[in-house]
Amino acid sequence: MMLKGKKALITGASKGIGKAIAVAFAREGADVAFTYLSSVEKGKALENELASYGITAIGIRSDASDFTQAEALIKEVLDAFGQIDILVNNAGITRDNLLLRMSLDDFDAVQKTNLYSVFNTTKAIIKTMMKQRSGSIINISSVVGVKGNAGQANYAASKAGIIGFTKSTALELGSRNIRCNAIAPGFIETEMTDQLDAKTVEGWRNAIPLKRGGQPEDVANACLFLGSDLSTYVSGQVLNVCGGMLT
Ligand code: NAP
Repeated sequence: MMLKGKKALITGASKGIGKAIAVAFAREGADVAFTYLSSVEKGKALENELASYGITAIGIRSDASDFTQAEALIKEVLDAFGQIDILVNNAGITRDNLLLRMSLDDFDAVQKTNLYSVFNTTKAIIKTMMKQRSGSIINISSVVGVKGNAGQANYAASKAGIIGFTKSTALELGSRNIRCNAIAPGFIETEMTDQLDAKTVEGWRNAIPLKRGGQPEDVANACLFLGSDLSTYVSGQVLNVCGGMLT
């Protein structure tokens, strides 16, 4: 029970990595609020699955890219839980294309969902965490934000932006005992990576020293560490969960 008594909010948890984080947090005793946008049925099913761990689970439909909705979301979760100890900014999308063909819309949409979302929830939650004098914010970046990737200029920019935002937040709020870290997953097998063609997937796998794609649970375990009291002296860091790919 690594998170017994803690209250967590995870964005974009209807499937993939976010869902694995929500399940791991519930299993370890945290009350879990989570969001989804288009996968309404999956969101409702997850609420029931989480409640079966004997914790309080709340699923909320909320667009992470929308500032006003993020403010309402934080208020709703605080009304229900009274506090938020862990915020995981996980919601994210891809709109891959070579730069020559990338539209302004494709660039914009990815910044709004991946990067602005992190600003939106963090901005809405920090006053509460400052009053609590504690909090752990975990932002899901990507190895692509560290090293870049052809065909993903929009996504890489958003994920690199998350790293700068994470480090700045850690510097600003450390004196209030608020920690902020980023996780940079490598190639994790989810619906997001299902969209890639077989040749690209083979290329990723060959480049991974551990010779396998990561599972959502691999990222969830890193979140457990950063959300729990095992990491009380860790802040402003980027933890690569990539099977050694970035080494
Ligand atoms: P996924 O399977 O496509 O799941 C994405 C989740 O984000 C879904 O729950 C989706 O909810 C939610 N979401 C998308 N837009 C949203 C919005 N505007 N508001 C609220 N929720 C929204 O993706 P994943 O692979 O689990 O990725 C999760 C995170 O890890 C993303 O930030 C991604 O960039 C990052 N990441 C993934 C990999 C990888 O290899 N898979 C690697 C590095 C980083 P709905 O379905 O309800 O819309």
